[in-house]
Amino acid sequence: MKRISILSVCALLAACAATSTSVRGPSGLTFVHLNDTYRVGAVEDGNAGGFGRVVTVIRELQAIGRDVHILHGGDFLYPSLESQLWNGQQMVDAFNFMDAIAPMHVVAGNHEFDRRTPEHLINAIAASEFDWLGDNYRFNTGNPEADAALQKSFTVEHEGKTIGIFSLTAHADHGGNDRDYVPIDSDYLSIAEKMIEHFEFTGVDAIIGLTHLYMSQDLEVARLRAMHPTFVFVVGGHDHEPEFSQLSDDSAAVMKGASNARVIWTIDMEFDVAGLPVITTTNLSLDTTVLVDPDYRVLENKWRDQLLERFPFLEARVGTAALAMDVREAAVRSVESSWGNFIVDQMRKAFGEPAADLAFINGGTLRIDDTIENDIRFEDIGRTFGFSSFLRHTTVSGAEFRQIMEAGYRGDGGTQGYFPQVSGFRVCVDRSRNEGDRIVSLQVPTDGDWQEIESVQQYSLVVPDFLFGGGDGYQIPKDRPASLPASELKYLVLDAVLAAQAQGLEVGVAVDSQNRRFHELRESKQPCFID
Ligand SMILES: [Zn+2]
Repeated sequence: MKRISILSVCALLAACAATSTSVRGPSGLTFVHLNDTYRVGAVEDGNAGGFGRVVTVIRELQAIGRDVHILHGGDFLYPSLESQLWNGQQMVDAFNFMDAIAPMHVVAGNHEFDRRTPEHLINAIAASEFDWLGDNYRFNTGNPEADAALQKSFTVEHEGKTIGIFSLTAHADHGGNDRDYVPIDSDYLSIAEKMIEHFEFTGVDAIIGLTHLYMSQDLEVARLRAMHPTFVFVVGGHDHEPEFSQLSDDSAAVMKGASNARVIWTIDMEFDVAGLPVITTTNLSLDTTVLVDPDYRVLENKWRDQLLERFPFLEARVGTAALAMDVREAAVRSVESSWGNFIVDQMRKAFGEPAADLAFINGGTLRIDDTIENDIRFEDIGRTFGFSSFLRHTTVSGAEFRQIMEAGYRGDGGTQGYFPQVSGFRVCVDRSRNEGDRIVSLQVPTDGDWQEIESVQQYSLVVPDFLFGGGDGYQIPKDRPASLPASELKYLVLDAVLAAQAQGLEVGVAVDSQNRRFHELRESKQPCFID
């Protein structure tokens, strides 16, 4: 195993955020934080992220004498190709491996509750050796052992110091799942405050938050530090790209890593002469400079072999890509994507001829987090869709459609699962305007040209059932005839790739910079749709 010192990794990184200049000592406490992980192995063709690299980082820290605890900000049981077979048991196995090396504490994310019934969660908990933490929710699965497994007011000990960890997950109003088997309280701030006061009362030396919430909610929780000086950081999930907010007297530090452990955080904790916690935070990009732990590789290969046993056709070539298509999350969740365009174009044809006028899909449905180039393998299609996506056909007026699409352009333009990939129209957005009023132009093809969508005209629309039901904030009218969920998108895409292959055609068209489906105005004077 190649030895890497964390400081040298830090030196290689573009962004290393340290809240103090102290150099890591040979002993002491280090938290390693990751969140939103869906693969047993690495992503980007094995070149980025993955637990095998996390294990290497942990072993290096332990080799210099650090006491390491792993924190995970949730979202791991689903969705993925493997979870469709094993319901997250492969992730539990990977977590147990890490927990055996350093104690691992996990808050559940919304994807732990993707299933409508609790059996798979009960099985996952039964197999877990790591800690499930939760202070704003409880398990109500009907299985007493599973329900009792969730730990509240959790603490860890280090050389006579006690660190309290409160943990919060997202309610259905904030991207969570609404399930009877896991009642969730959405009053995050007051629960956090109650937990902090409880920890203070019991005399802990430091308090940290482990969350699966929106960043804005984490920042609100972090401001409780103003009254509670032992409350020092919040680490979270739900976001798939790194976040950082600095520690100050008025706010705890807030950190999130990148999905699939592409970027993780280490947080060293020391105590000053007054006994207050002092932290040093570092983000690590887990790229090819960090080797995959060889023992972990055995576990990774075991699951790969089992997958190939179940799906021997997984590596079979089903088509050919016309270009390298960037399907990494950073792409499909913020910009127009060639693979996204190909997929959404198929959706319009899902209900026969004539093709529907309009279709869109949330970028968060496209889970592969990889580049598709040269051969398109069955695995590329299987991994693109981590869960089944049945489609719905309905009708909307042009005015309604403009309003529906506003939901896709809320926020600051960072990567978001709700960002839409679109077909049958093009849209120009100005984020300097208020949310709900950001679409400058939404055009449909008319007589070989583009024209603004007609407010009163009716248009046929195809969307995944998830969005039809109000997922990701899209409000699609229900007061009119609509199809039942039909046509599984994964097989529609496979069919289209196979059809192209049969005709000797390649799949994918480069995004046309002179005719974008999605265009964001950087300055209001700029023309829409053209770079
Ligand atoms: Zn989430």
